[in-house]
Amino acid sequence: MQRPSWSRRRFLGAVAAAPAMTYVARASTAPHVAVVGAGAFGMWTADQLHRQGARVTLIDAYGPGSPRASSGGDSRVIRAVYGPDRIYVDMVKRSFELWEELAALTTRDLYTETGALWMHRGGDDYLRSALPFMRAAGFPLEPVDLDDARRRWPQISFDGVRSVWLEHRAGALAARDCVRFMHQLRQQQGGDYLRLRARPGPIRSGVMTRLLLDDGTQLEADAYVFACGPWLSKLFPDVMGQFIRPTRQEVHYFGPPPGNRFFGAGSMPTWIDFGQRVFYGLPDLQGRGFKIADDTRGELFDPDEGDRTPSPEAIARARALMAQRFPSLRDAPLLEARVCQYENSPDGHLIIDRHPDATNAWLVGGGSGHGFKLSPAVGQMVAGHLLDQRPVEPRFAMTRLADMAEQGTQFESRGEGA
Ligand SMILES: Cc1cc2nc3c(=O)[nH]c(=O)nc-3n(C[C@H](O)[C@H](O)[C@H](O)COP(=O)(O)OP(=O)(O)OC[C@H]3O[C@@H](n4cnc5c(N)ncnc54)[C@H](O)[C@@H]3O)c2cc1C
Repeated sequence: MQRPSWSRRRFLGAVAAAPAMTYVARASTAPHVAVVGAGAFGMWTADQLHRQGARVTLIDAYGPGSPRASSGGDSRVIRAVYGPDRIYVDMVKRSFELWEELAALTTRDLYTETGALWMHRGGDDYLRSALPFMRAAGFPLEPVDLDDARRRWPQISFDGVRSVWLEHRAGALAARDCVRFMHQLRQQQGGDYLRLRARPGPIRSGVMTRLLLDDGTQLEADAYVFACGPWLSKLFPDVMGQFIRPTRQEVHYFGPPPGNRFFGAGSMPTWIDFGQRVFYGLPDLQGRGFKIADDTRGELFDPDEGDRTPSPEAIARARALMAQRFPSLRDAPLLEARVCQYENSPDGHLIIDRHPDATNAWLVGGGSGHGFKLSPAVGQMVAGHLLDQRPVEPRFAMTRLADMAEQGTQFESRGEGA
């Protein structure tokens, strides 16, 4: 990793100045917050700020849930197993409540509970370390012995698998539909929205003064949230250039035979297979096909111009995994393939913090292949920082990135996909 162009000291300067700012303190007039990015993080941030009385202008260059956005996929896994990371289990719990609240507002299947099957070919320490937190949060996690697993899921070959666990409260979020539905609700409520690209404006005396919009206009607000996913590194090359690394990821949908009942949501759980590469997938939801994804980080990817043509190599790897783990789908036809990008932070943790030079500008991202499910809790956190001056969570702070960079720690995502 290169040395950072800003240091821990630079960042701490911004924090020290913050308490003096009154720009979003609850006042007689509602604070105006511009949220740049209408992906899952920006959408939930806008929602939570609005619920707490802020006036929000939401801005997106390509539109909510566009195919270029990380939130633009059909489905994203929601699960609560996060190893010994209690903070994420709590975030999943809070997020579940808000996802279910959202899903109850529509007849669309925004959330499908499938359970999640964890298959380990090696040790399962990661999962076992989650047990106390799962228990405390009320997420049931069941060990399944291999004979039982073979009986319950005859469509899966457990060859090479040493341990199996079933996480009961887990499933699939219809990602793009969730984001678009939230946008529709915002519009019905008269929420301001601009379909434009925004760039950060000048920073004066530790405060961002405005946004520069692609149509030549400018937007002034009291505070600015940049929830720009993989674009954060382009937008803030100086501050985020080395801390957000978008990588190319492929997802494939294969077609089970006609009338087959083994791969639908009723019979097939969401699954994760920890082999040399980590693969995960979802049952055939609404006839889209059996989804399989390789969590291995691909090459660097440009979210604007990157080539989204699926590669024969990735399809071959998916087929090889299917032949081994789901033998009856060995020759299933490929129905669809999509290329998306992870927006990786160096350690796989989220980034939710102020811009080091501007106390009223917030950088929100680093979903790193596992952020979608957490986005309601992310929105809550950001609203808490802006409106209630809640302190930044150290795990998500930029100081930890500066520390990593200063210590020369390599950029290595944790492989916390899905
Ligand atoms: C293949 C794949 C599988 C995944 N699986 C899972 C999973 O199973 N479970 C899970 O929880 N997570 C998963 N994730 C991760 C998750 O989808 C992302 O972490 C999350 O969607 C990130 O949301 P975001 O709002 O930060 O970014 P995005 O969704 O990319 O949104 C950013 C938005 O900002 C806009 N924007 C950018 N720059 C500008 C600008 N200058 N002006 C205006 N607008 C701008 C873009 O148009 C975009 O709409 C997966 C990701 C991928 C790619």
